[in-house]
Amino acid sequence: MANGGAGDGGGKGLEQATRLVTAGRRSDWTGTPAEPGSVVNPPVWRASTHLYPDSAALHGGKPNADGHFYYGRRGSPTQWALADALTALEPGAYGTMLYPSGVSALAASLMAVLRPGDVLLMTDNAYEPTRQLGRGLLKDFGIETRWFDPLDPAAFEAAIDKRSKAVLLESPGSLTLEVQDVPALAAAARAHGLATVLDNTWAGPLGFAALNHGADISVMSLTKHVGGHSDLMLGSAAAGEHFYAKLRRTAQQLGLVVSPDDASLALRGLRSMGLRLERETASALALATWLEQQPQIARVLCPMLPGSPGHALWARDFTGGCGLFSIVFKGKKGSARDAFIDALNLFGIGYSWGGFESLVSPVDPAKLRSATVWPLPDMDPADRFGVRLSIGLEGLEDLKADLALGLTAWEKAP
Ligand SMILES: *Cc1c(COP(=O)(O)O)cnc(C)c1O
Repeated sequence: MANGGAGDGGGKGLEQATRLVTAGRRSDWTGTPAEPGSVVNPPVWRASTHLYPDSAALHGGKPNADGHFYYGRRGSPTQWALADALTALEPGAYGTMLYPSGVSALAASLMAVLRPGDVLLMTDNAYEPTRQLGRGLLKDFGIETRWFDPLDPAAFEAAIDKRSKAVLLESPGSLTLEVQDVPALAAAARAHGLATVLDNTWAGPLGFAALNHGADISVMSLTKHVGGHSDLMLGSAAAGEHFYAKLRRTAQQLGLVVSPDDASLALRGLRSMGLRLERETASALALATWLEQQPQIARVLCPMLPGSPGHALWARDFTGGCGLFSIVFKGKKGSARDAFIDALNLFGIGYSWGGFESLVSPVDPAKLRSATVWPLPDMDPADRFGVRLSIGLEGLEDLKADLALGLTAWEKAP
């Protein structure tokens, strides 16, 4: 496991909350041979060179087997522990590869399942850099990307032809929050021999058991919920045995490796991820419910909110949510939206999400659509400017008061 890890499941049958605490803490990675398991966390192993006791060990042993010393590019216990922990948390996973960012996890996952001449079908709500990958590097390598309506499984199936070899899903979409019928889309993909790659960053394994719902590869930006503290960049891809082998081969040949320092920070973040997500989800739902009643708001895009688009699929398939949702203002110009953003004191202005602190960023999906339109057909075309909110761990009433300041500023803007 470069950085990868085919783990033992970290204690089958345990609740996810318990696995968050125990996963990846193998005693041989958290101690010395004389005193295994003698510290709580796997230490930061900074190592490029791995030494062998003699030539026989160098010639024999387990060259390049997961979880064994070989060479620094294959990782050391710090990275193995993170990969192992993620595997334990992802139901149905055989192993997990780590990547220097979420984008590199997506790129390497797609390169693992696509070859020149193939067609990639991509959901139209995909994250912008994922779209750029389709229009850019994949195109350069002779792979064609075609976009489809995230909410139309029939259109997806109709788009499949002999050249289609993979589908990229993102559910909910991280800007416009459409929930896709992943089981139906993945089943159609499998019936036609396509690999399903799901960007599962929004829910993560606590909120959506991606592989159990039909995805072949579950990708996450660990930069978001797993890191959780806005101080690292990492990505992961988890899969069953067949696809894990493809991920591993691709990542190893691309020379992808993550730093032990970042892996250690991600492990630290992971331990509190469940609690953070619970709190963020509760606050986000309370704020979404409140915002929906405000006269300035045309639409709240939040699958956790009863009655909102995507809620039925979310309630059917998901076991959790997170703090990320979007709102669309009633009419006015983009400058009114900017006034809303600038009036906020507790929300940092930035493009990331999933940290302990709240963030806001403008949402302009109109430019990011190929197979669908924005505003959505059932929306008033004047209601087009939105913001995305990442709700952190601050007090709920403080956040609400801050958003009220923003709404007042929006009102006053021309
Ligand atoms: C942030 C993000 C990514 C990319 O992750 P990085 O770690 O920033 O490279 C991928 N998908 C989604 C949905 C994201 O929000």
